[in-house]
Amino acid sequence: MKLMITSLSVNEGFARSAVCSFLLQLDPTIPELNEIRTAVSEAVTNCVVHAYGDAVGVIEIVVKIFIDRTVYIRVKDKGCGIINISQAMEPMYTTAANDERSGLGFSVMLQFMDKINVSSKAKQGTIVIMTKKLTDNRRVYD
Ligand code: ATP
Ligand code: MG
Repeated sequence: MKLMITSLSVNEGFARSAVCSFLLQLDPTIPELNEIRTAVSEAVTNCVVHAYGDAVGVIEIVVKIFIDRTVYIRVKDKGCGIINISQAMEPMYTTAANDERSGLGFSVMLQFMDKINVSSKAKQGTIVIMTKKLTDNRRVYD
């Protein structure tokens, strides 16, 4: 599944709902769905808030489902990029000047997903790849 949205905050809710709707075919547990929804929300919000500054750019979201029930989510922007990725991923680290940000977005993604990979180049953009293997929730009907 591929979704392209502009980096307007109004689109963040649509993106997270679209990803979750797509994943309903896996019959995930409610906690799994909530965790993925929150992780997607954090990744997309980062593109909205940090990547493009006051400008508006494109955010691309790709979701893949693998046969072993692993969910792959890639969130990509072509914004300012992250100069020091390991520093950015530290809990409580934020470059936001106001009090609205707590610097916990990456921590939330790390906690709720199995793996996170961040790659970024200054002035070229950022790619966040997250994976999570869902539990075997298939119901048995007699
Ligand atoms: P919070 O997510 O708690 O509101 P935050 O967004 O500052 O605060 P993180 O999501 O952990 O915290 O991100 C840490 C920092 O990494 C950000 O302050 C920002 O400097 C940088 N960053 C994250 N995502 C991007 C991105 N897509 N483009 C550019 N910089 C980013
Ligand atoms: Mg954030």
